[in-house]
Formats: sequence, C-alpha cells, structure tokens
Amino acid sequence: MDAETGRRRSMRWLPVVALVAAVASGSPDTDDLATAVRGAISHASSSPAAAASAQLPPSSVTPAPTTVNRTTTFGTSASGRPLTVTEIGNPASPNRILIVGCVHGNEPAGIAVADALAKAPPLSNADLWLVPVLNPDGVSADTRQNADGVDLNRNFPFGWQSPGQRGAVDYAGPSALSEPESRAAAALIKSIRPTTAIWFHQHLAVVDNSQGPAAVETRFAAMVGLPLAALTDYPGSAVGWEDATFGPTAFVVELPAGVLDSPAVSRYVSAIRAIPQP
Ligand SMILES: [Zn+2]
Repeated sequence: MDAETGRRRSMRWLPVVALVAAVASGSPDTDDLATAVRGAISHASSSPAAAASAQLPPSSVTPAPTTVNRTTTFGTSASGRPLTVTEIGNPASPNRILIVGCVHGNEPAGIAVADALAKAPPLSNADLWLVPVLNPDGVSADTRQNADGVDLNRNFPFGWQSPGQRGAVDYAGPSALSEPESRAAAALIKSIRPTTAIWFHQHLAVVDNSQGPAAVETRFAAMVGLPLAALTDYPGSAVGWEDATFGPTAFVVELPAGVLDSPAVSRYVSAIRAIPQP
C-alpha cells in the first residue's frame, strides 16, 4: 500500500481503538458506554477520512448483550431432592423459553436435551430456562409418579378433577398443587412467564398441536422430524394450565421410546434454539 492509503486506514481505525480502550477501562454502566461511544465518534469526525466511520450504522458500536448461564434450586421434591433450573441466554430478551426435560419419571429421554442446551453457547436473542428433571424421585424409582404416588401432570390447577385412588397410574393427588414439585413449577412459571414452553414426555413420537402455539409447534415438528398430532388435554396437566393461564404458549413433545442418540439430541437442541424468530 502507498503511504497515503496507509495513513487513512490507520485513521479509520482510530475511533474503534478509542472505543475499545474506553470500554476496556470503563465500567459496564450504559451511560459510561454511551459517553465512550460519543467520544470516539467525536474524535473520528475531526478528519474527513475518519468521518466516514462515524457514519457506520449504530449497530457497529452497540455492545453485545450480556448473557448468563446460572443454575439455581427452585424447590425440593417430596423426598427432599433438589429441583434445579438453569437460565442460559440473554435475560433481557423477550423470548423466554422454558424446557422441562422430564415430568413423568419413567419418561426420561428429554433430560439429555435440557442438559445439552445448558452446555451450548448462550443465545443473545433468547432466555432459556432449563428444568432437566421436575420429578427426580420418579426418575430414581423409574415411576411415572412422584414419591407421593401422584401424577404431577394431573396435579396442576386448570381443570383439576377429584382424583381416583392413590396407586392409580394417573392419580391426581388430594388437591390441585398438593405436590411440592408442581407447586415449585407453578411458582417458577408465574415468575418467568415463558413465551414458549416445551414439556417432554415419551413415547408416542409426536408433537402435540392440540392447544399451544400452532406456528411454533408446526415448525418444531418439521425440524425434529416428528408428526403433529392433537393429544388429549387431560385435566390438571401442566400445559393445559399454562395455555389457559398465559395464552397458547406451551406444548407437549412426545419423544420416541428409549434413549435419544447424539444426532437426535442435536436436532432437538437446534429446533429449540431456532424458536426465537428475528
Ligand atoms: Zn408423560
């Protein structure tokens, strides 16, 4: 390159260098950052060549969103096992996506999807809330119900019905939200207000399109290669309560029987990470 071109190029980078230096030395406070940006642009506009860089679109100087990856305990099971949730992504995003990997303890395949999502890079356009296991006692005992013998997916308040006998496979519990797991989940959901929620079950190998967000369900089914099917809306189900309370946001994904292999886990992870639309 000739000397003149080299000088111009180095001047074009001045604002960027000034901005990086300002950000690196300053606090993450927004006002400080805005001052740094204005200072860098003001400095750049002192020469015609550098003035061009001051006309770059605002996105070129917008800092990347702050993302998080934090795991907390939001309750305990009937037997005292911790219930954990991982929030990963951008807490400021309007796309709040809840994933429940396992609610029926003998249907655990979705746990691998939630675990894989927790290890993937945080998204800037979504805030993922991952509950790998809502029923750890059931997983430990390989039972559908929790340690009280209650089907948690019949224990939510919407349409809850007087239960059958304790010991029945879908015993709904003595009252709505009688179980610590469903109470903790309801409180978490009220706090998060998910814009999308997926509850994994097994083993019908379908995406439920009975009552949830139809467009999301349709796209999700195509991405993971499962058919759509309208499943029965059982009284006291988690998605029934979510959809009745917060609008059509939640749906069931019935995984195939057995364990998901690695390519299948990747398909589900990709489909969930694609839920936020630009
Ligand atoms: Zn199930």
